[in-house]
Amino acid sequence: MQAILDEIAKTIAASPERGQVASYIPQLARVDPAKFGIAVVLADGSCCSAGDAGEAFSIQSISKVFTFTMALERLGDAIWERVGREPSGDPFNSIVQLEHERGKPRNPFINAGAIAVADAVMQTCQPHQAVGEILQFVRLLADDGNIGLDAKVARSEKQSGDRNASLAHFIASFGNLQHPAPAVLDTYFDHCSIAMSCAQLARAGRYLATAGMIESGATRVISEQQARRINSLMLMCGHYDGSGEFAYRVGLPGKSGVGGGILAIAPSKASIAVWSPGLDKIGNSKLGTQALEMLVARTGWSIFGH
Ligand code: GLU
Repeated sequence: MQAILDEIAKTIAASPERGQVASYIPQLARVDPAKFGIAVVLADGSCCSAGDAGEAFSIQSISKVFTFTMALERLGDAIWERVGREPSGDPFNSIVQLEHERGKPRNPFINAGAIAVADAVMQTCQPHQAVGEILQFVRLLADDGNIGLDAKVARSEKQSGDRNASLAHFIASFGNLQHPAPAVLDTYFDHCSIAMSCAQLARAGRYLATAGMIESGATRVISEQQARRINSLMLMCGHYDGSGEFAYRVGLPGKSGVGGGILAIAPSKASIAVWSPGLDKIGNSKLGTQALEMLVARTGWSIFGH
């Protein structure tokens, strides 16, 4: 595995076409597009990594996997009254479907859906409390107490968050938020600004590769059925309107973020995190996707066969 990752890191480092770093959140535009990291945590807990796998980056929408896990664990099937589970085929921040579907977002991984999920995990109107619980959950998953928020990214998002604010108020207008939209938005922006390295992220995602368990079968995070269902949602909805393309090229459940990270799951085998900040036109990491394509070709891990 180490030899495969070293080879991937070498190939990606030499790639001249790196995509465009996200610029609509000013703080993300400052990230060096030459960065690349990859980490693989196998089902037995062993880890291999290459490149900048120890450097923290903004996980952005990948955090939606963790908040959705919390919501599913706490609310069970009642979460489906708040959010759907179909691919959207629309950009991550689109508002059009929301009007047709009367404020019920199409799935938990587009922004509208993640805002509804953020509301669902809030137990009081205090964003700080909700964010504290989300962080605690992510630290538990990654077995790492050093994971935190990037305060500059959070501030930058809040200052340029008009589109997300529109989504939240629009959802609220249909009665699908239980807390005030500004408090829900604070929770949402803060969890998007969690900073993690590939090594931490791959470790945090391991419960999805091991049927809901962590620490080699000692702690259950969610049920086996729920883990399977989160993986299916990641496969169908984890890359916005590029989810079909990702399934076609990589063939693994995956969730991307505009910080250039991707968390991918090879069920029963491994949790994988990659990071390359340059994005394709849809907003998914260009070279991160290519790296996963190479990994799957070498390991035969596609869920669709060798
Ligand atoms: N916080 C980002 C936003 O809401 C997340 C986008 C993403 O990673 O897809 O715009």
